[in-house]
Amino acid sequence: RKWWSSLRNGLSRVSRAPAGYRAIHRRYDVIVVGGGHAGTEAAAAAARVGAETLLVTQKIDTIGALSCNPSLGGVGKGQLVREVDALDGLCGRAGDRAGIHFSVLNRSKGPAVWGPRAQLDRQRYRDFIQAELLATPRLEVMEGSVEELLVEEERPGRHRVTGIRLAGHAPPLEASSVILTTGTFLSGFLFLGQTSSPGGRIGDPPSSSGLSRTLKETLGLQVGRLRTGTPPRILKDSVDLTLATLHPPDQHPTPFSFLNTHTHCKPEEQLPCYLVRTTPGVDRVVMESLDDNSHIQEDTKGPRYCPSIESRVLRFPGRSHQVWLEPEGMTSNLLYPQGLSMTMPPDMQLRLLRQIPALHRVEISTPGYGVQYDYVCPTQLCPSLQVKTTQGLFLAGQINGTTGYEEAAAQGLWAGVNAARSALAAPLLALSRTESYIGVLIDDLVTRGVTEPYRMFTSRAEFRTLLRPDNADLRLTLKGFEEVGCVSAQRYNEAVRVKEGLEEAFSTLGSLSRSPRDWRKTLETTVYRPHCELQKKEIQRIEREEGMYLSPDLDYLSLPVSLSNEVREILDRVRPTTVSSDLVGSALFLHPISHNTKHSPFSL
Ligand code: FAD
Repeated sequence: RKWWSSLRNGLSRVSRAPAGYRAIHRRYDVIVVGGGHAGTEAAAAAARVGAETLLVTQKIDTIGALSCNPSLGGVGKGQLVREVDALDGLCGRAGDRAGIHFSVLNRSKGPAVWGPRAQLDRQRYRDFIQAELLATPRLEVMEGSVEELLVEEERPGRHRVTGIRLAGHAPPLEASSVILTTGTFLSGFLFLGQTSSPGGRIGDPPSSSGLSRTLKETLGLQVGRLRTGTPPRILKDSVDLTLATLHPPDQHPTPFSFLNTHTHCKPEEQLPCYLVRTTPGVDRVVMESLDDNSHIQEDTKGPRYCPSIESRVLRFPGRSHQVWLEPEGMTSNLLYPQGLSMTMPPDMQLRLLRQIPALHRVEISTPGYGVQYDYVCPTQLCPSLQVKTTQGLFLAGQINGTTGYEEAAAQGLWAGVNAARSALAAPLLALSRTESYIGVLIDDLVTRGVTEPYRMFTSRAEFRTLLRPDNADLRLTLKGFEEVGCVSAQRYNEAVRVKEGLEEAFSTLGSLSRSPRDWRKTLETTVYRPHCELQKKEIQRIEREEGMYLSPDLDYLSLPVSLSNEVREILDRVRPTTVSSDLVGSALFLHPISHNTKHSPFSL
């Protein structure tokens, strides 16, 4: 009861807008709703592309907040961070500023699947993101809750966005493009034990029902429901760390950003993490708590790869699970027990934690809780992240059914680029899955949709030996400057310098009969070269197909080709834009088009 009332008090707390955080104009090129990981990258990217941009978010204080784990990167996710950085985004540099424990995961495998990762100091991360936004030209930041999305019907079933309406009596704000990045806040409900209450995250109210109504009723968008949860935060000085296994950071921290040669935290200042394991006592408490745990009883799908301890015990009874104890900040007395996300009542949470030897006297600072929220089925989006049926409306982040800061940041950046281009009357752009993990992420979302919270893995990228974390600048920075317009000249010049240096090095290498020891790393990577050459040929084929557009009005249901009804229905629903779509590929592979068909989609 005590925990829940403090949680509810948090929900009703209203923070005041500091002076300077008000909308100066009534009309913007781009308005971004939400200041989480998607929203901050979106706002910064739109402004970099040249759009007059406004970021509106419920609380200035929570801009750049890490709602769950205090970490960035990892396997697959680290690749996304490097790509966001290569396109001049914020999160890589913020990670280098706030990191307090750096390690590259998967070192035993090849460099293509290494995963740069860091534990972060929450406050430093937030401070960095907020300072960057305030220093970004053409970007204003405003505190406020968006009550309604303003749209006009252009013809039946087709709309155009015109702006937003804020809570209270403020006049509407007009915009050519609006990006919604409302995370877990759309019809959000928080769960703790048997109690539930409206909320987007602990201490924050949900998004207004007006926003959900516009999306569902006015725009007719299909909306689903997902859930996630977070562990209790525990007091470090109540943990017996002598009973835990120490996990040191890398001796030489690897920065996320291509602009940085070293991290802010000195190697010797980094903090360790610790590993402990669950015991049979943990299983017992989970089983005893089930009747008092309404979140776990719901049918809504949760994150399969980051499950709650309740789900883990129910799926794998009797198994001992790893729990990482991770620092929350350089001077913080809090630890984050990764692997122990839970929604049982707080007294049961304490009992459960104390079943682990190192935690036998542990004290909780904040209990774990769950959240259930609406997401918009992402097959209703184009690869630009614009809603297919609404000109100027873009969606990014958890609202599209993904989970994780990195996935949100990657989508935010790309939505920001396209929202700005749309407002400035420039053609919208797509990133291919052959050139980036961001392309893989967006293609998976818009062609396949989600049935559970989506997170990135290296196995999702067919061309992962080419899409390495070390070459994200060569893949994206040059394009980001020359074609997209979101990269600064300083970063571009640096990438050109690296490219020319590497070309020279390879040509020197080719002329050497014996290579000096300095080249070891580069030589190791060239093991991939024959495979890379094959993948390049495959990429050329896909690029040809990317130029073959499919008409948006194509009647898949009666198309005179040999396709199963199931594939026809999927194609009809998803309406891929080009023949290169992964979905078209799999459909045609399974059901090849007969040779005597005159109207194959390939000819369109
Ligand atoms: P958010 O970071 O949620 O940001 C949304 C922003 O929009 C907020 O600032 C909010 O104030 C603002 N907003 C909402 N509505 C309005 C409105 N109407 N007007 C103005 N502003 C508005 N990720 C993992 O990878 N692993 C996990 O285990 C994990 N667990 C999680 C547990 C919980 C309880 C929560 C809340 C999140 C968890 N996440 C986890 C997810 C991670 O936090 C998100 O994926 C990520 O933050 C999504 O970024 P976003 O920008 O889409 O949304």
